[in-house]
Amino acid sequence: MTPPAQPRPARVRVARPSTAAHGVDGTPTVRTLNGMSAASPSGDQNGKRVLLAKPRGYCAGVDRAVITVEKALEMYGPPVYVRKEIVHNRHVVDTLRERGVIFVDETTEVPEGALVVFSAHGVSPAVHEEAEKRNLRTIDATCPLVTKVHKEVNRFARDDYDIMLIGHHGHEEVEGTSGEAPEHVQLVDTPEDVAQVQVRDPSKVVWLSQTTLSVDETMQRVDQLRERFPEIADPPSDDICYATSNRQVAVKAMAAECDLVLVVGSRNSSNSQRLVEVALQAGASDAHLIDYASEVDPTWLDGVETVGVTSGASVPDVLVMELLDYLAGRGWEDVQEVTTANEKISFALPRELRTGREDKRSSVR
Ligand code: SF4
Repeated sequence: MTPPAQPRPARVRVARPSTAAHGVDGTPTVRTLNGMSAASPSGDQNGKRVLLAKPRGYCAGVDRAVITVEKALEMYGPPVYVRKEIVHNRHVVDTLRERGVIFVDETTEVPEGALVVFSAHGVSPAVHEEAEKRNLRTIDATCPLVTKVHKEVNRFARDDYDIMLIGHHGHEEVEGTSGEAPEHVQLVDTPEDVAQVQVRDPSKVVWLSQTTLSVDETMQRVDQLRERFPEIADPPSDDICYATSNRQVAVKAMAAECDLVLVVGSRNSSNSQRLVEVALQAGASDAHLIDYASEVDPTWLDGVETVGVTSGASVPDVLVMELLDYLAGRGWEDVQEVTTANEKISFALPRELRTGREDKRSSVR
């Protein structure tokens, strides 16, 4: 895997969208802030400023998964069952639950013949078989970039490789990916795992990875694997997805200037947790993961001038706007967006839902 190039970030002072103008269904409106006047080009007079990372928030796979559930509700009516959280975000899950989605842990909890959507993190073939046995109607919202890794597992398993899957124990994506060829895959999470894995033929070993890891940490694990297995093959293309690496590059670009970085995201969101770690490694004095602005501990802001703000790939931007409102209320009105990439990727909906009139964006944003 090639670590992403460090681009020169573009930096502009931005108007902060007002949360008063949008709920989960609304399009943000924009109002200009006092601290953005031309009279104070270097920032707010009190030294307080926010650096806002871009890209942040929803990736193409999450948007597709949320639209999939919304379309399923629209076309088939509630209840729509979803196996596991459709994406790892509390706000998204709660909003969809209010609209008639029933989240279950396993397909055995879904009534025979009902409709079930598989989450963006992907499922193993065993889950598909179980659903078929129970005559469930299924829609698969697995992100195409996760499916790509599943296909790589199948290809290397067919060629009888031992596959070192770098990822986190217990993560749903890893369970789905390993399940493609459990007899060939060994999970490598920690340095201790590297020491313990066993291979049959050191010339037929490949490493693949979960899509939402820290790029730097993954490369450390690859180096450790390569010390044990010098002939280990690289994946045919990067498994850590564009959205994960882009959000890490953006937070790295601003972290060293930040006294505090606030990452909006849920505890079970791997890519959000990685953003906190990357921010600290890149020089932020402090960093925290929060689902909502209300979770900010006011003591975190003591003595702070520059606050960095970003969000994980499953986070609707409305939650970031609420955080900016919270900060503005405490004197952090000057918001500068630090842009390291402009993302234009989108994925087609699952075949069962294509009507020729696809919505371009999910309404839970
Ligand atoms: S984080 Fe990456 S792999 Fe996961 S849903 Fe988004 S685009 Fe797909």
